[in-house]
Amino acid sequence: MALERLLKGFADFRLGYYREHLDLFEKLATEGQSPAILIVGCADARVDPGILTQTKPGDIFTVRNVAAMVPPAQYPPDERHHGTSAAIEFAVRGLGVQHVVVLGHALCGGIGALVDGRESAYADYDYLATWTSIAQEVRDLVVRELAGRPREEIVRAVEQAAVVNSVRNLMSFRWIAESVESGTLSLHAWWFNLVEGQLYAFNPASAAFEQVHDTKLGGAFTRGTALSAIDPQRFVAAVAARKPAF
Ligand SMILES: [Zn+2]
Repeated sequence: MALERLLKGFADFRLGYYREHLDLFEKLATEGQSPAILIVGCADARVDPGILTQTKPGDIFTVRNVAAMVPPAQYPPDERHHGTSAAIEFAVRGLGVQHVVVLGHALCGGIGALVDGRESAYADYDYLATWTSIAQEVRDLVVRELAGRPREEIVRAVEQAAVVNSVRNLMSFRWIAESVESGTLSLHAWWFNLVEGQLYAFNPASAAFEQVHDTKLGGAFTRGTALSAIDPQRFVAAVAARKPAF
């Protein structure tokens, strides 16, 4: 039944969207893709970057994984299968995107599992905990700094700190650091709250996630931004200094 819905959807797409955008698909087929934006999003079925941003085919290059994480660069590169790093490398070096957006979200199951650790229902999975341990340090930091606060607030802080951590990790790839330094690439830490339907962007100047209003974007990590401005520790300290949100 679930699969039939997909096929029905594809039939509708072929007769509707595809026909309406024939020129676009023809252009993309002959000229290739040249997206200006890479989005690193979560695999969660509720947070499709294309739907959230109402973009067209060819607009955004997307890599989705558990909890929208970027691992640190591996130098020298080894023989393991670095899927997310390979997608990021192709987008930045091959396609020359101008923006990389790491898009975390509320109620993230991957982050919830990371917060719960051994208590998690997924603790004995083969790969999950190893993958999300990319944000283990910031998770431990949040749990320590927000001790005594409600779990909901701790999870949210880890969700957001993990996004900041991933942007920080982006800077460990030499070709990203070089592109940011030369002013051709900007990095963004976003967090989508699907409960209220709002988007938040991390502003390095205030060390806070600020609600995005219409098309105004508060902050970005770009040429001239100090690396220390995108330090997850600074973000967590700012959260801990504020009153409990829940
Ligand atoms: Zn998620």
